Amino acid sequence: MPEVVMTCDWTMMSDHNGKEFLGFGTTTPAYILPERAYQRMFYPVMATDEHGFPKMAPYGMRKIEAALLDDGIDARIVHPSHLDKYMPGPAKVLMISGHDYFGLNPPSSTFSGVMKKEPLNCVNFKRMLRQPHVQAARRQGMKLIAGGPCAWQLSPATRMKVPWIGEFVDSIGGIDCVVEGEADVYVRELVRKALRDEFLPPHVVLAPKEAPKVEQISTIRYPSVNGLIEIGRGCCRGCSFCSVTTRPTRWYPLEKIEAELKINAAVGVKKGLLHSDDVYFYGSPNVMPKEEKLLPLLKLAKQHYAQVGWSHVAVASLMTKPKLLSKCAEIIVDDKQSWWGVEVGVETGSPRIITTGMPGKVAPFKASQWPELVVQAAGLMNDNHVYPACTFIVGLPQETEDDVLKTIELIDNLWDFKAILVPMFFVPLGHLKSKDWFRKDRLSPVQEELLKRALTHGLRQSKTLLREFFDWETNHRVAYRAGFRGFVSFIQLLAKMNGLWSEPRHPPVKIQDPNLTPDRLPVPTIPVRE
Ligand code: SF4
Repeated sequence: MPEVVMTCDWTMMSDHNGKEFLGFGTTTPAYILPERAYQRMFYPVMATDEHGFPKMAPYGMRKIEAALLDDGIDARIVHPSHLDKYMPGPAKVLMISGHDYFGLNPPSSTFSGVMKKEPLNCVNFKRMLRQPHVQAARRQGMKLIAGGPCAWQLSPATRMKVPWIGEFVDSIGGIDCVVEGEADVYVRELVRKALRDEFLPPHVVLAPKEAPKVEQISTIRYPSVNGLIEIGRGCCRGCSFCSVTTRPTRWYPLEKIEAELKINAAVGVKKGLLHSDDVYFYGSPNVMPKEEKLLPLLKLAKQHYAQVGWSHVAVASLMTKPKLLSKCAEIIVDDKQSWWGVEVGVETGSPRIITTGMPGKVAPFKASQWPELVVQAAGLMNDNHVYPACTFIVGLPQETEDDVLKTIELIDNLWDFKAILVPMFFVPLGHLKSKDWFRKDRLSPVQEELLKRALTHGLRQSKTLLREFFDWETNHRVAYRAGFRGFVSFIQLLAKMNGLWSEPRHPPVKIQDPNLTPDRLPVPTIPVRE
């Protein structure tokens, strides 16, 4: 019986029908259809054993679970529907994690702002902590520790800006400790203190210099959702709105990566995602991809998984070594896999925004080349069977109408590419965390047009992508495909009825001779911890 129980809400404790990308569906409110319909599509119930231990759990939680187990602490991840097995009772500490507790992150904040309803992740998070047995255990003194990528949402500063968060926390009897940052090392002593019933600091922010070294990061003990495993942490590009960039870049050696691939493969996981903020960049000490590092990584992943995807890649990395992508495709695409997906942070079509807020994103190219680079990268990816989800930010503090028009122009130039375009309202993070959230009531007509254009593009491309999305699956029934197609058609109809459908007024501009070459700039070096 573990003394330390870790959990998250139902939207996170799911394999999202075997498609990590469908997890985005948990960031919307339940709109018109009942919540159960969204659950079936986006966060079906995760299988558990008789102890309530999930078959797979979110990777970040597996890392913390492994850190505690390595330190001799009796900790386990438990499915949120099985917490009653441990509380009130043997569990002395409950640790919770989440990507977006209160729906404040993009894209939840965008969807909830537009639809004026709480997103599913927020609804489920609150429901999890309000369960009677959790409340009973709290009254009996069980400690509650919160962490994860969205721990900032429980910080005093956020509670000041969003008073209803404080009201919710008070209603569940408070939270003993909130930890922001990479807690792989710190969590061990913190949990020991909790088990000894000692005072816990209410809010801890771990500085980037406290980020663990590679050898201090534990290897997961049990399988992760959708075979996702990390290949490194941190990013050197320095975008002002991003919190990842404040941490040092570290790459895991292949042996460490293989150990985790084996953990998943041993229980029959056949497909998985390689996670880093730029997979193309694996093993590089600067912004130039290293073929001799990346290709062996992909070969290794394909030895253990039949299907391999990437979490993120940067446009500039791809365009620095475009031919390397076809070498990657030669390894990844085979008779078991016809394409792979990846998230790409495009953020804007405006070179001015790139210059003022994210100059590192384009390195080693010039900011003025950004829109061309994005279009060329989209073509490069599609040519190599990569279908990206491209994110855009709406409402950056320095954004002007001209910047938004340039982003719309870029979307128009991406119109025929197989991609999903995801506009997200600005959220104050990273170096911009003192700024204010962007909200729907601040939308200008031209920003509204951008949202409509991206929605139209997404719905138009979704039907094509869905066909391929499910094609490499043998275990997805025709009904699922038909269900998702029906859902997309339904949203498409609603969009047209509500005046939200917007097509480009001009045919996409074809870039004839982009002549994109990196500037002769010295390649910046960044600290890399092995
Ligand atoms: S490139 Fe991506 S991960 Fe890196 S700093 Fe910019 S937004 Fe963050």
